[in-house]
Amino acid sequence: MVELTQSTRFAIFAQIMSAEKATAIVLRLVDFSESSSVVTFFTREYGKLGALAKGAYRHKGPFDSALDLLTCCRIVFLRKSSGGLDLLTEAKLEHRFRPAAHNLGSLYAGYYLAELLLGLTDEYDPHPELFDVAATVLEALSKNDNAMAEVLFFELNALRLLGHMPSFENCVECGKVIAPKKRIAFSQLAGGVLCAGCRPGKRHVVSLSGEALEALKDLARGNIEDVRNKEIERNVRGELRGVLNHTISHLLGRKPKMQDQLRFLDSD
Ligand SMILES: [Zn+2]
Repeated sequence: MVELTQSTRFAIFAQIMSAEKATAIVLRLVDFSESSSVVTFFTREYGKLGALAKGAYRHKGPFDSALDLLTCCRIVFLRKSSGGLDLLTEAKLEHRFRPAAHNLGSLYAGYYLAELLLGLTDEYDPHPELFDVAATVLEALSKNDNAMAEVLFFELNALRLLGHMPSFENCVECGKVIAPKKRIAFSQLAGGVLCAGCRPGKRHVVSLSGEALEALKDLARGNIEDVRNKEIERNVRGELRGVLNHTISHLLGRKPKMQDQLRFLDSD
């Protein structure tokens, strides 16, 4: 009987493992050794996954400079059967993320998007619609569009598609429809508006203006074109950021690192 060495066994194993293909956005790159890197992708087909890229930085390597933060690429990888990292075997660049020149807001918006996808999604939990929204928003940020509106659109879609959308229409406690008013109570803990009957005694409640609530409802149901063409007043924008900063920090269990940088999105 022929004894197989460890490396021969691995080579045979790698061949019988099926290679998976996916469209992916690069969310994070961490050096593993001088020439290798661990890459976290958000893929359309499989959701988030981490893969070891051997020779990631070699100029004419199998990854052909596709492995850069927020690039969109086509990847081929070998899936590890139990735990551990997948092995990246191929990456072909589709789009590079190029924030508009001199627009710090677009760059930070891109980093923030990566941070949210890393923090809010689970490994091998696919959300193809969220992938499409992320790809659309990254492309729009490269064209110097309205970074503030793009971020709001991405956040609300992420909340909706991941099942965390706050309740803006009905009281989060009793379900009663909230009639338009000047000021409406919003519970940051319960994640939604409160009617006058449910408001007393609740902690972490902020008062939202009627305009801010209407803007949130529009964003929550809106398509991207409506959001892009909408002028939101500066003080209302401040209220929207307050609600979303809180909602997202609560979901992540911490404040996103890029949250303070979002003020660069407000250019006027
Ligand atoms: Zn109520």
